[in-house]
Amino acid sequence: TGKSDLVVVYHRLPFEEKVENGVMVERQPSSPNGIIPTLLSFFGDGKPGSWVAWSTVDPATPGYRTRSAVDIVKYPKLVAARVALTTHQVDIFYKKFSKEAFWPTLHTFWERATFLEEDWLVYLEVNRLFAERAAAEAAENAVIWIHDYNLWMVPAFLRELRPDVTIAFFHHTYFPSADVFNVVPWRREIIGSLLQCDFIGFHIPRQSENFVDVARGVTPIKVLEKQNCAPRFMTYGCAVGLEEMTSVIEVRGRIIHLGAHPVGLDLGRISHALDNPEIQAQIQQLKQELEGTRVLLSVERLDYTKGILEKVHAFERLLDEHPELIGNVTLVTICVPAAAEMTVYAELQVDIEQAVGRINGRFAQIGWTPLQFFFRKVPFEQLVAYYAMADVMWITPLRDGLNLVAKEYVATQGMVDGAGVLVLSEFAGAAAELRGALLTNPHSPHELADSAWQGLIMDEAEARSRIRDAFDVVQHHDIERWGHDFLDAVEVARLANIQQV
Ligand code: UDP
Repeated sequence: TGKSDLVVVYHRLPFEEKVENGVMVERQPSSPNGIIPTLLSFFGDGKPGSWVAWSTVDPATPGYRTRSAVDIVKYPKLVAARVALTTHQVDIFYKKFSKEAFWPTLHTFWERATFLEEDWLVYLEVNRLFAERAAAEAAENAVIWIHDYNLWMVPAFLRELRPDVTIAFFHHTYFPSADVFNVVPWRREIIGSLLQCDFIGFHIPRQSENFVDVARGVTPIKVLEKQNCAPRFMTYGCAVGLEEMTSVIEVRGRIIHLGAHPVGLDLGRISHALDNPEIQAQIQQLKQELEGTRVLLSVERLDYTKGILEKVHAFERLLDEHPELIGNVTLVTICVPAAAEMTVYAELQVDIEQAVGRINGRFAQIGWTPLQFFFRKVPFEQLVAYYAMADVMWITPLRDGLNLVAKEYVATQGMVDGAGVLVLSEFAGAAAELRGALLTNPHSPHELADSAWQGLIMDEAEARSRIRDAFDVVQHHDIERWGHDFLDAVEVARLANIQQV
């Protein structure tokens, strides 16, 4: 029951748990993905650590433990520390409030946001519970690493409970400019909380600078240091580029470090998939089935931020403007449905289905369906097969924090020595990083259609050289490096603040 030097505060547990025959059981997920394995890897050296996350299992259930081992062999001193929440609390704070108030605002769709005070109170209560659990887990002078906008208010509660700890925060989603963010009725509380951190990380400089701008509207800020964004990030030529970012600020005597740390990939997962004979067979099968047509590919969650409807319309425009493509190009779309209870997504799904049906009805020929739309989640390994065979990856978010799919396509093409073209929205965070991508503005129907066209007609030498440039970035900034760079930056902030005291 030792205290931890590193405490990760993440909404979900790193394993699954449920109640079976009246008893609580824990289970390792079959194929863990995303950043969970990376965050776990920091505990591989046997350092005492804690992972704070919610659990909706009733604490009165037999077998329930507030603290339990995550994986006694791999991480002998890592403890999962549960924040007991009711299903009602999770529904309000996570499924409803975070998605209805903060998600649209963060992605600049603030007209879609609803800000209900009663939901905010539940959000505050849940954040306080997370902070209390983290405070109870942390050793003296520990580092506490909090993740994402669901937990914005944790630093405020935590700082009161534990003035000694180093608080780090990573923001996984887009962070909009002050003109947008300032519509949030609780912006003072949220910014005040984040300013209790020692280090705050965002994907790209633009998001970090937007945060500073919002903070400036709440409290006087002294800029202590700035940093050039080049050569790591684009400085111009894309909507999210920026020349210089603020890296250290002082607010009422507290010093806060800021950094741009775009999440990277686990390249091993992709090479592993490509080595799998079943995936190789699938690539061959897809090639056969789509023989004779060029393939445009689109992969995303069903969300209005992803520009799916815009892309479907742009595809129709492409066929209208270039009749020679009829019968010769297929748009394959893999779209992961949202949870059934989310009605905004249900409406979007109907709109997309209608547009797809109409366009297919207009153009289809025996043996050729222009739009192959799959409304389902595809296992990661199979996605790699699609990435390997697609001629053009068409990624069109109206706004996106980063976009991992773009990087996954680049990595797959890089590994198979392909000549695929990445067409990427200039409003995705990854656009600031991925040199070599063909950038497009998805708010312009003309530009969107034209970007697919440019991707289809690009000569092979140029395509190869572009994908190599992008692969270079993805290879050198993988997920492991992301984690280490982040924690190194936290350490710099920690030492600076110790010296200050
Ligand atoms: N993904 C998947 N199956 C699918 C579609 C997507 O496993 O059918 C994965 C994809 O490989 C990527 C993630 O979901 O790692 C989506 O991340 P991204 O940053 O592109 O978008 P987000 O959904 O986080 O906004």
